[in-house]
Amino acid sequence: MKAAVVTSFTEPLELQDRPVPEPGPGEVLVRIEASGLCHTDIHAAHGDWPVKPAPPFVPGHEGVGIVEQVGAGVDAARVGERVAIPWLGHACGHCDHCVSGWETLCEEQRNTGYSVDGGFAEYAVADADYVVRVPAGVSPHDAAPLTCAGVTTYKAIKVAHIRPAERVAVFGIGGLGHLAVQYARLVGATVIAVDIDDQKLELAAELGADHVINAGKTDPVAAITELGGADVAVVLAVIPHVFESAFAALRRGGRLVCVGLPPEQDGPMSLPIFPTVLKGISVIGSIVGTRQDLVEVFDLHARGRTRVIAETRKLDEVNASIDDVLAGRTTARIVFEF
Ligand code: NAD
Ligand code: ZN
Ligand code: ZN
Repeated sequence: MKAAVVTSFTEPLELQDRPVPEPGPGEVLVRIEASGLCHTDIHAAHGDWPVKPAPPFVPGHEGVGIVEQVGAGVDAARVGERVAIPWLGHACGHCDHCVSGWETLCEEQRNTGYSVDGGFAEYAVADADYVVRVPAGVSPHDAAPLTCAGVTTYKAIKVAHIRPAERVAVFGIGGLGHLAVQYARLVGATVIAVDIDDQKLELAAELGADHVINAGKTDPVAAITELGGADVAVVLAVIPHVFESAFAALRRGGRLVCVGLPPEQDGPMSLPIFPTVLKGISVIGSIVGTRQDLVEVFDLHARGRTRVIAETRKLDEVNASIDDVLAGRTTARIVFEF
């Protein structure tokens, strides 16, 4: 099978011909139909984060496809099922996080396309209990970005406990951001979209953003303050200073939801204590979503409540696609189709 492999943090991905993997006990073999390119895959390929994956590995945690084979202990009736293989590839299932609905915090978790091979290949094996069924009415092309960009921003909106009269600022209208705008609209919020690219802001407006701010031309803190300040700021950009601007744009009682994961070498965000305390600000870290969150994301999409904006490419174009994401030359998401 064809696979895009990270062989070193300083080299482009290598297209390799690898044997089709065998599903072990409790696993399924999935023939990948579509696989989204998340900015996280780029961080993985470059070794950007404090906990690094070990090359060689196959990135991709938005893989969607058909179960072709099952391992020991998995119901054979699952052959033919369309499933998504998300970032949360496996969790222990019995720690306090797992049993309280926070499996995404499990310390025993394995991450697809990071600690286990992912979806940038014609086939992938995955834990049968952690793949999520893709319902009829959601195409593989749409299911792929929903599997990370969708579930992550859906969860970010959930943890912010937004009330309909509140203002939500979304910083970064890329793969994640174009869906964040829609989930914030679905809970009734007034949405302010912030990016440095006018085309992305046009897309945000088309998807329901009430206000758009080009941070390259206008100070977003001043512009949001002018609108009354944000109750919630969801940060999806990959630059620490954007987190600081988002914090500064919050009104009293505001919540800063941190989702973007800038490279370690770009340094920490720095938040002033005095306004945090006096304004009663909450700082929330939000990591992907659970299997149940993804079920809800697919259900909303099947009912026509969200739109996925993505361009289709071939896996051979993986390195050029990474360059395009880094240069901001993509509409929202890139999906490799097989
Ligand atoms: P992306 O590259 O598609 O989007 C980033 C967006 O930020 C782009 O639209 C870019 O134009 C915009 N941007 C750049 N500079 C900006 C600025 N100064 N102000 C506002 N916007 C600016 O990336 P993505 O796939 O959406 O991922 C975003 C980040 O989220 C990555 O760091 C990724 O690793 C992380 N992520 C986190 C989770 C999680 O669970 N917490 C899940 C998935 C992805
Ligand atoms: Zn656990
Ligand atoms: Zn992702």
